[in-house]
Amino acid sequence: MHEMSLMGDILQLIQEDATDKGIQQIDKVELIVGEISNAMPDALRMAFDIFRDQNLHLFTETAELVLHIEEAKAKCVLCELEYRPDQKIALCPSCLVPSGKVLSGETFQILSYEGRN
Ligand SMILES: [Zn+2]
Repeated sequence: MHEMSLMGDILQLIQEDATDKGIQQIDKVELIVGEISNAMPDALRMAFDIFRDQNLHLFTETAELVLHIEEAKAKCVLCELEYRPDQKIALCPSCLVPSGKVLSGETFQILSYEGRN
């Protein structure tokens, strides 16, 4: 489950930033997750719960993960049709060739987090 390592990286970044700001315990983490970012929301939630329960000096017991799902969109470079790809290399539903340029849905980033001093 590569979401464990993704979540580990994210929590490490947050932890470093929190240390700089004098934040003792993290209460809430918000992420933007694109539909075709290769990170599964359920697996991210599970990974977050595991890290939280193992690091209760760093998180509050009720710390929550909020995911904002970014819809996937692609535009065909041949016919300019905009469509919703189900993966990164997606066939244009009209031309039936992999001619889509992804416009959104690949994002995987931290939106914000909250904590207590
Ligand atoms: Zn097309």
